[in-house]
Amino acid sequence: MIRILVTNDDGYRSDGLKVLADALRHLGEVTIVAPIEEASAIGHALTLRHPLRLEAIADRVYAVDGTPTDCVNMAVTQVLKGLPDLVVSGINKGWNLGDDVTYSGTVAGALEGALLGAPAIAVSLKATREAYDFGPSARAAATLAEAILRRPLPARTFLNINVPKGGPKGIRVTVQAKRNHVTSVAERHDPKGRPYYWIEEGLNEWEPDERSDYHAVKAGYVSVTPLQPDLTSYEALAALEELSFGREAEVR
Ligand code: MN
Repeated sequence: MIRILVTNDDGYRSDGLKVLADALRHLGEVTIVAPIEEASAIGHALTLRHPLRLEAIADRVYAVDGTPTDCVNMAVTQVLKGLPDLVVSGINKGWNLGDDVTYSGTVAGALEGALLGAPAIAVSLKATREAYDFGPSARAAATLAEAILRRPLPARTFLNINVPKGGPKGIRVTVQAKRNHVTSVAERHDPKGRPYYWIEEGLNEWEPDERSDYHAVKAGYVSVTPLQPDLTSYEALAALEELSFGREAEVR
């Protein structure tokens, strides 16, 4: 029996999680372990300084008062008592494209699955003020889940899927887009005149790149980017070795 773990960062009550779980049930036994409250933009955070509670919500549905990364660890050790055959995180309300993946709790759920040794997928769709249609995202996730269960990806690799609004034209294999990061923090004042601050979401200026996830979703395609936890810049290795006169140097 194929065991599939479904998590997210929007919380266990999120519709996107439920639609995703339903779409994966024909592939195996689905267990949901998800945060009890929304944990968006929490990245790969791991809770080490307070205890975690695991709450059984319904049959094969559990909530953890922690992060998506916590949820995957709790699922593997306490619920499934072993690695699942697949971890799927989402469906997130809002894209996780390009450089933004490092902020994403959704992507971190899949990343943690990959680090523990399971094939993993993160799924996100375009944010909207209207009612969400999770159908196309769920179908895209199921399509790719089936594909990687049949032909596994290299170890420590996982997929980041982003889905455009409406019916997608198809699926494109992509690379991460690069965004021009401009920081914006607004200062306001409370009734006592003391300042407080809001970090504002960055301006969406993306570098043009035909291969990128951003370009694909803008053109109406589902983007699927293979990611890996290794952040080493292999391009920079030689330059750094030149600076430090080889692979080892003395501290002066
Ligand atoms: Mn989220």
